[in-house]
This record gives sequence, C-alpha cells and structure tokens, in this order.
Amino acid sequence: NMSNEEVPPPLPEKKRRIAVLTSGGDAPGMNGAVRAVVRMAIAKGCEAFFVHEGYEGLVNGGDMIKQADWEDVRGFLPEGGTLIGSARCMSFRERWGRLSAAKNMVLNGIDALIVCGGDGSLTGADLFRKEWPGLLEELVGKGELTTEQITPFKSLNIVGLVGSIDNDMSATDATIGCYSSLHRICGCVDSINDTAQSHQRAFIVEVMGRHCGWLALMSAISTGADFLFIPESPPSRDWRIDMSTIITKHRKMGKRTTLVIIAEGAIDQDLKKVTPGEIKDLLSNELKLDTRVTTLGHIQRGGAPCAYDRLLSTLQGAEAVNAVLEAKEGTPSPVISVIENKIVRQPLMEAVRLTQLVPAAIEHKDFARAMELRDAEFSEYFNAYRITGAAELPELLLPENKRMRIGIIHVGAPAGGMNAASRAAIAYCFSRGHTPVALYNGFSGLIRHHSDKPQGSVRDISWLEADSWVSKGGSEIGTNRTLPSENMAEVSLAFERYNIQALFCIGGFEAFHAVSELRKARKEFPPVSIPIVVLPATVSNNVPGTEYSLGSDTCLNALIEYCDTCRQSASASRRRVFVIETQGGESGYVAVIAGISVGALAVYTPEEGINIKMLDSDIDALRETFKRDRGQNRAGKIILRNEKASSVYTTQVIADILSVEGKTREGKVQFEARVGIPGHFQQGKEPSPMDRVRAVRFAVRSLQHLESFAGWSREEIANDPTTVSVIGIRGAKVQFSAMETVENEETDWKHRRPKAEYWRGLTGLGDILAGRPRRTAPD
Ligand code: ATP
Repeated sequence: NMSNEEVPPPLPEKKRRIAVLTSGGDAPGMNGAVRAVVRMAIAKGCEAFFVHEGYEGLVNGGDMIKQADWEDVRGFLPEGGTLIGSARCMSFRERWGRLSAAKNMVLNGIDALIVCGGDGSLTGADLFRKEWPGLLEELVGKGELTTEQITPFKSLNIVGLVGSIDNDMSATDATIGCYSSLHRICGCVDSINDTAQSHQRAFIVEVMGRHCGWLALMSAISTGADFLFIPESPPSRDWRIDMSTIITKHRKMGKRTTLVIIAEGAIDQDLKKVTPGEIKDLLSNELKLDTRVTTLGHIQRGGAPCAYDRLLSTLQGAEAVNAVLEAKEGTPSPVISVIENKIVRQPLMEAVRLTQLVPAAIEHKDFARAMELRDAEFSEYFNAYRITGAAELPELLLPENKRMRIGIIHVGAPAGGMNAASRAAIAYCFSRGHTPVALYNGFSGLIRHHSDKPQGSVRDISWLEADSWVSKGGSEIGTNRTLPSENMAEVSLAFERYNIQALFCIGGFEAFHAVSELRKARKEFPPVSIPIVVLPATVSNNVPGTEYSLGSDTCLNALIEYCDTCRQSASASRRRVFVIETQGGESGYVAVIAGISVGALAVYTPEEGINIKMLDSDIDALRETFKRDRGQNRAGKIILRNEKASSVYTTQVIADILSVEGKTREGKVQFEARVGIPGHFQQGKEPSPMDRVRAVRFAVRSLQHLESFAGWSREEIANDPTTVSVIGIRGAKVQFSAMETVENEETDWKHRRPKAEYWRGLTGLGDILAGRPRRTAPD
C-alpha cells in the first residue's frame, strides 16, 4: 500500500512542481523545449521534473520521474530526437493507466504537466486533465491515497507543446520539428536533382505525411518539383493527363530533369491510394523517361534541429512555463503555437478538434474543407506552388490591358532566397501574361544601360533560365550596393527605354534605401513613377517594415553549425570559451537569435554596447559554469559578439581578457578563450528551406500587389502611398507597409535599422536560459 508514502509538502504560493514529457514520434527540437521548460521553471523558483519515455513514465512512476536540475539539460539544444525518451503508451489510453499516472504525480508532488507531442499526445493530455478530479476521488476511494494527500492537487495544469515533424496541427503555423525535417528532405532532393540533371532522369520522391501534406508541399516549393501529390488536395480525376501535360511541357522547354513529390498518404479524388509505383509506370511507359523512385523514410525524423526549431522550441518551452504560472482554475488548457512570428496560446482542445476534422473531411471527399482546416498559410503556399510551378495556366492569364513589364532587381549583398524569389516572380509573370525583365547588377547595371554589349544589363528572361535558381545561393542576376541617386537621370531613362511598368526590388537596407530614393524622385523623373515593392533580403535582418528578411534564416543555420563545431572541438580539450563574431551591421538580430539557438553564455550587440561591468559579470558567470560543469564533455562555451558591438572591446580584445581572467594567480588554467570569425560563411551555401518557401510566397504576394496597379496613370501612382511599399512579417501578419510611413516614422537612418526591433524583448530570455547572471526573470 503506497498511501503511507510521503507526499512532498506544497511549494509556496505560485511556485509549482512542473513535469515535462515528450510523447509520440520524436521530433528535432523536443530537447530544446525540455531545456527551456526546465530552466525557465527553475528561474521562476519552481521545481522541474523529467518524465522519461512519455506517458509510460507517468504510468510506471519510480525512477522514470526525476527532478531535473539546471545542469541536467546542458547540451540539449543541438541534439536531435528526444533525450528524455518517448514512447507509444497503450496503458495511458486505458483508465487504469491514467489512474496510475495520477497517483504518481501526486506522490511526486507534481501539479503541472507540460506535454510535447503530436495531436494524439495532446488528446491524451486533455483527457487526463478532464478526468483529474475523478481520478483522485477514485484513488482515495480505493485507499491508495488519503484525502489529505490529494487536497493540494485539486486541479491539474496541462500545457501542450506541439512537437511533430508533420506540421499537422491546426492552430499553429509550425510544429516543433517540421522545419528540421524539411531541411533533411531538401538536402536529399537537392542531391537527387544533381544526379537527375546528369542523366536527364525523372525522380519520384516519397516523403512522410499520412494525413498531412505540409512536408510534401513545402519540399515541392523548395526544390521546384514538377508535380505534387498531397492528401488534402488530391489532383483532378484526370491527373494522369495533367501530369503528363505539365511534364512534357517542361521537358519541351528544355528542362533536363523531372521531379515528382508524393506524400505518404497521397490519394486520388476517389480516395484511392496513389503509389510511387504507378507514377513511375506512367513516366517510364508513356513519357519514356528514365524514372527512379526514392522513399526517404526515417531519415526525415533525425538529425540536429535547425535554427528555427531551436528558437521555436525555446520560446515555446518558456511560454509554457509562463502559461502554467498564469493559469487560473477553470481556464481551458492552452497549447502554445506560433502564427507567423508571434508565439500565442490557443485552447488545446479546440486545436485538437480542428486537427482531427481534417482526416474526416478527406474521408468525406470534402477537400476544400480539408484545406481550409489547415492554417491559412497552407492554402496560400499551395496556390503559390500552383501558380509558379505550371509555366502558364490558360485560366490564370490576365487580359492584355492588365499585363505589365515587371523589372526584377537585386540590391546590396547576396542573401539566401534572393534567387528563389526572383524565380518565383518570373514564373508568376509567365502564368499571368506579364513580361519579366531582369535588371542585371543592380542600379549600377541600370545606370550603364547604354552599353551595347551583347549581354546587356536589361534583358527579358525565359522560364527555363530561371527554373534552376530555386535552390541556388548568391545572386544569379547580380547584385551591388549602388544607389539610384548615383545617376537618377540614367535610371529614369532606362525605365523609359525598356518600358518598365513595375519594379520588384529584392535586397537589404540598400534596397530599402534605393526604393526610398526612387519614391522621392517620382515628381522630377516621371518614368520612375511606377508601383514598387521591396522584398527585404539580408542576413542582417535590419530592414524596417518587417521582422524577417530572406536570408536571415540561412545565416542563422550557418552560424549555429559553426558554433556547434567550435563547441565540439572544445569538448576534447575541455574548458574553452569561443568568442565568435557575427555579421549584422548595426543590428544585433543575428547575434541574439543565434545566441538563443546555441545557448550562448553572453551576446554583445550594438544596441546595448559592451562595458567593463558586463565583461566582469560575464567572467564571473563563466567561472561559475565551468565550476558547476560535471564534465559531461560539453565544456565548450560560446559568446557571440556582433561586429559593431563596440569599437574598443573587439572580438580579439575580449578573448584576450577572458584568457587572462581564466588563469589563477598561480597560473592554473580554469578556462581559455579562442576567437572565431565566420565572416562570409554566414551567408550560407544553399538557402534554407524556410528562406526558399517564404521567398516564393512573398514573391507571389508582391507581384499580386504590383499587378493591382495595372493601368494606373503616373499621377495616380505618385499620389497613392501604397504604390511603393515594403512587404514583411509583422507579428502574426504578412503585410505591405507604405514606404513613406516606414522611412519617415520607423527607420533609424543613422544606424540603418528599424527604430523598434521586435527581438529586443528576447534578449532577457536568452540570458535567463543561459544562466547569465546580471538580469532577473522578466514577468
Ligand atoms: P505523432 O504526430 O508523431 O504521431 P502523436 O502524439 O499524435 O505523435 P500518438 O501515437 O497518436 O502520437 O500518441 C502518443 C501517445 O499519446 C499514445 O501512445 C498514448 O499514450 C497517448 N494517447 C494518444 N491518444 C490518446 C487518447 N485518445 N487517450 C489517451 N491517450 C492517448
């Protein structure tokens, strides 16, 4: 009889014992969530507990539930899978299993549970919470617990975190793990494309997703697949003909490869399974293509989490703890989700209910409803794929008088996704009947448009030319920093000479600056009075009007890879701190977000500067962590310093100071310091999948915006502020902001960054989770 066991006394008011478990299929980023929950809980004065092997640990209790210390989650961030284990647990589906789970929670004094898993796991969690009072009553009735023992546990707080590679949960744009999985898929398909290209082959790639086509859709967009099968939106009854038509058309245009992506759960409109085998037969027998099938399988689950998953899991884990602490009796359990760039809480049960409606809608052949039930982003991506993938669909062509000649230009340094955005814009033009005009080498190319070289700087461009750009880094049409003010008259002449009727400008702060100049020049140079959209693309993510710019995700991934590698090299020699210098100009974004994603001990930004007190306290923190380190072979520490954080405390100076301070007076080395300067490595090689898919989505939106002004007079255009805008993510929304407002009200021109930088609110969190001492937990 366990009722004699001592139940730990309740913690003081508002302090809780919070347990965390991972359940269902493992997903990269789960470890980041566990780390954030544990450290945030401890930082807020609570106790944290691991429950090992998912619900299995809750049902079995004993050693499977353990208090977790700060040090226990050291090194969790970069690890794939889930280090505390996960399981499919049959007994938790039974009432007796949940009864046992409830008893184990009470015996450990745990009154809050954070569950990271898919919709099944979260359904189980919600059921458990609903049954909680009844379970306790039953335990008392059976004499397994006493009334006194259960009194402090009247209600149970449950918070859900969605960890799943499928991204199949309604109510959130992304689940923890889905972007890492997409990284793996895109890496594989990029390699497959190389061999396909060499042999002019066709490949059919099957990706995971039994009920959810997110991975298939996103990988099709990221790799420029010719045809796609997802369960939510099966192809038409005549898909064999449609597919053959599209593929034949692409081949006739000169494409050497064919790529078909198929989700595991692909079906046709009659719910009959579509298999890679039958597609292969069709491509080999009818189209006479040398066709191979590749099933990616479990490779898609594994590997280190990408930058986004580390950030997302960290932010969401911390938010889950806040949600526990703010929960009131009777409020429904929340699930922590993300909408665009905003972490939000949604009712857990509603999210689960909507998610479960998708397979039901598919079963009823209500595919429109199935698409609707996915988040809004999903349909938008699907349409973007369709418009940019088909090379002209007669039903999408605009009437002659709505068609435009649209210039595409890159300005500033290259950034991942620039090419993908240009490719999408060009493909969109062909679908709608516009003429895309590539403006080579930025504004310096335009200024020199009179040069009569055969390869002029302004050229119409073919679909095929742009088709292979989807996965390419750098800038295929060339980019540079020249501003139009260098010779506005020539820019204007070039616009006139080539009849440029709208401009799609992709780049960083220079692109923003250039467009601001064009806007101001409209009265003096009428040919410049055309609709213009700037799509921010820069690793620094310092463009006003958006919280995200293309290329910044690619940069973060390159940077965390660099940091992970440095850290690993330290584990052999132990006790080493790397002072790593990041790009970012006058904006600390890259340093701060990379810092959160690698668990940097300190991050130095231009916004905050560096002073002697900071260094002093960070040195104390370093001594402290090395002292506490139990030699788990994870002794490398990272400090990130933005290139412009201080003119005095350079990266080398900081490393030198640390090396001196790392020695005792007797000369014993407590820790040593090294400098790392990744430099242009941060631009990344291939653009990350997130940068690729967002490039496509934003390009399509931008062009839709531009074409909405077709037929406007120069006067009308000059008088409407929305004709020149920046596209960007702001909180939970993607929107166009009038350039005039952004440049006048939101721009810190001196420091070349937005006046308000959303991420500055995250610096405190990064510090807390890294154990940086000089700040206190924010409320
Ligand atoms: P994935 O997205 O990877 O499939 P999931 O969380 O949906 O993740 P499931 O296998 O459905 O994976 O669920 C994981 C565990 O959650 C189950 O093994 C079971 O212990 C518990 N669980 C699932 N559904 C329920 C339910 N209806 N009632 C109680 N427990 C459940």
